[in-house]
Amino acid sequence: MSNEPRRPGRHFLQIPGPTPVPERILNAMSQQILDHRGPAFQKLGQRVLASARTIFKTTNPVVIFPSSGTGAWEAALVNTLSPGDKVLMVETGQFAVLWKQMAERLGLTPEMIPTDWRIGVDASLIEARLTKDKAHEIKAVCVVHNETSTGCRTWLEEVRKAIDAASHPALLMVDTISSLGVMDLRHDEWGIDVTISGSQKGLMLPPALSFNAISQKALAAAKTAKLAKSYFAWDDMLANNANGFFPYTPATGLLYGLCEAIDMLHEEGLDNVYARHERLAEATRRAVRAWGLDIWCRDAKYYSPAVTAVATPDGHNADAFRKVVLDTFNMSLGTGLNKLAGKAFRIGHLGDTNELTILGALAGVEMSLGLAGIPHKKGGVDAAMAYFAETAQPAAAKAA
Ligand SMILES: *Cc1c(COP(=O)(O)O)cnc(C)c1O
Repeated sequence: MSNEPRRPGRHFLQIPGPTPVPERILNAMSQQILDHRGPAFQKLGQRVLASARTIFKTTNPVVIFPSSGTGAWEAALVNTLSPGDKVLMVETGQFAVLWKQMAERLGLTPEMIPTDWRIGVDASLIEARLTKDKAHEIKAVCVVHNETSTGCRTWLEEVRKAIDAASHPALLMVDTISSLGVMDLRHDEWGIDVTISGSQKGLMLPPALSFNAISQKALAAAKTAKLAKSYFAWDDMLANNANGFFPYTPATGLLYGLCEAIDMLHEEGLDNVYARHERLAEATRRAVRAWGLDIWCRDAKYYSPAVTAVATPDGHNADAFRKVVLDTFNMSLGTGLNKLAGKAFRIGHLGDTNELTILGALAGVEMSLGLAGIPHKKGGVDAAMAYFAETAQPAAAKAA
């Protein structure tokens, strides 16, 4: 028995991933281990590899690694690029910085387009840079769809258009780790070459599965790519996947969960899933404005449907505030990463969540602002409730 007093009710996990796992998925995963070289696994493998394509909106292969999302970043780079290759990245926030560090460690030559960390990607800067690259030295453009550290999204259609406008052959690689199952993603239609994702955010699964959706152009690049690779090599993976198998022991329990998660997303309808996230995000922003606090993302065009970062007023440490929230109301909010450390907290509104969960979370924030002595106005929860009531729809109407 622990010396800590029991905290009744459920913990509010309002970080922008990992997110709470629905009971249906927990139950689906709760199965005895099976022979990963046997016929029962083959059926599961074939099913999950086919259905994974539907959430990336692709007819091309989607490979699934037993790794965190970071592994899928690495897989994308090592399978398509060669030592010294130039890659163009945009410093939208901490995840862009970490991906760049990885590219350097792998022997690539990344170039960063800076931002002030309060917007998403400005595609015109990519177009300008690629237009100057007459020799086509830049081999890939790498962007983060939803910059989880800042609460700023990027419009991938614009990035695609920018690359085309520059008539540049660079591969387009996109980190969708916190956007898949949250906001629209069209791997084929938007001409993405490698879409990278992970299991523990919009997909509502535990951490430890990661994904690469791979275009034909990326598959062709893989034939001549010279970076060293072994565990993450696509060729072994694709050869085994062709029969529903994996080159090494797959995360069988998580794959059962993945089948269930994909079914759940389609039962709700992907468009409804995206609209629900937009709505929860809008209610959250209305609460933040009513409190008189600043939304970290400074341009509405880039507001994230997955997470809202909130700046605390000068002299008020955001992590001290988060501690009050956790100690008093048993809720975890996201910490400020890197440039946002101490200056902002993040409210996750992604995954298996709904209006009343978000209202509970916002109530916890509003009460804690008072307890922590952070100057603010009342009425954030009221603003969110008013918005939800105005835009309310019975579940049956959405299905129609
Ligand atoms: C969470 C996250 C990552 C890192 O994923 P891990 O599963 O922790 O390796 C990378 N990029 C973005 C945008 C993320 O949100």
